Amino acid sequence: MRVLVIGAGMGGLTASLALRAHGHEVTVYERVRQNRPVGAAISIWSNGVKCLNYLGLGDKVKALGGPMDNLAYVDGLTGDTLCRFSLDPLVEQVGQKPYPVSRAELQAMLFDEVGAENIRLGHNLVGVEDDGETVTAHFENGETATGDVLIGADGAHSTVRQYVLGGPTERRYSGYVNYNGLVPISADLAPADQWTTWVGQGKRASVMPIANGRFYFFLDVPLPLGLSPDKDAYKADLSEYFSGWAPPVQHLIGTLDPATTNRVEIHDIEPFMTWTRGRVALLGDAGHSTTPDIGQGGCQAFEDAIVLAMALQTNTLGIEDALVRYQNRRNERTAELVLRARKRADVTHGVDMAVTQAWYDELSREDGTTIIRGIVANIVGNPVS
Ligand code: FAD
Repeated sequence: MRVLVIGAGMGGLTASLALRAHGHEVTVYERVRQNRPVGAAISIWSNGVKCLNYLGLGDKVKALGGPMDNLAYVDGLTGDTLCRFSLDPLVEQVGQKPYPVSRAELQAMLFDEVGAENIRLGHNLVGVEDDGETVTAHFENGETATGDVLIGADGAHSTVRQYVLGGPTERRYSGYVNYNGLVPISADLAPADQWTTWVGQGKRASVMPIANGRFYFFLDVPLPLGLSPDKDAYKADLSEYFSGWAPPVQHLIGTLDPATTNRVEIHDIEPFMTWTRGRVALLGDAGHSTTPDIGQGGCQAFEDAIVLAMALQTNTLGIEDALVRYQNRRNERTAELVLRARKRADVTHGVDMAVTQAWYDELSREDGTTIIRGIVANIVGNPVS
């Protein structure tokens, strides 16, 4: 089959690799003119890593991954450790280490695997036409491309989704802003092999090790939507938001480079079950846009890619039927994870401070069992377990 994939993010690129591995001819169309990912880093949980292993990328993703062996929560104001435990029991239960990785390095690795010759940059999809036999993509630059199947991996603001659902979709602001970036690993921040999170006041600061001596950091602050982002003010703003917090958090704010720090107003989309229309299907954030609170958005895009390729492999009742089967294997799992992440976001970010305080109290009694159980629950149900 000839497959048109719209979007060269982590979903579109892995879909391209999975479909190619099953013998299809795949071209990826991407609106930006340069391969440049947004965001600093990402945690690829064990289910996502397994998908990349399945695609033959195991050694490559391992090389990008940081040594995240332990997990700790710290009281942001007092600096007291609330809990600290090894992630070994997680790895034993699910059979794979998770890897926090640089987004730029992940994107470059996937881009190279797909091959620049199979990716058309500067192609902004503006229209889709399905005549029942073929599907045609129309691009802003006047070009068109025709194939047997079109996959909309065009992210949270998807144009393909609008075609599939027949209209626009509302994004829902989750009430907090996430600042993220990379800083050198330093003992003034946290142990180099640990995912450390400081919590308090419905805010959090976090560092996770990625390869080559760097921490991925993020700082979450409940804020109104639409404040004007001014990079020059990031440090002053963060110092105010985290005033009185423990020395490592102050050190993090002092160390970060505002020029390379991202500021994201976190949104999700109410889960919806229709991902296909004729020969067109959604994949990744286009089909299930989530808050990042359980670190599963990208991992679910990887899972979509594998299931899509499997579904198209057995299209005995036709392509449309295979796409519906793909949709039906994916939409319930991703809907549940979007809602789980939303709930986690509310607890973490003080939507009801009594609930958030109860969570802080639980953290001080945690020995790792409950948190690991929660992470395992996100991982099981993946297609390559
Ligand atoms: P995208 O990465 O958004 O890629 C879509 C691509 O489509 C883009 O390149 C875009 O330019 C292109 N495109 C858009 N419109 C068009 C068009 N009309 N024509 C052509 N091309 C188009 N997930 C995890 O698994 N773990 C994490 O730790 C994690 N942390 C996160 C932290 C933050 C702060 C955020 C915001 C998200 C996080 N996520 C995480 C989620 C993850 O980033 C997304 O789920 C993932 O990027 C989705 O990949 P995608 O390919 O579906 O979409």
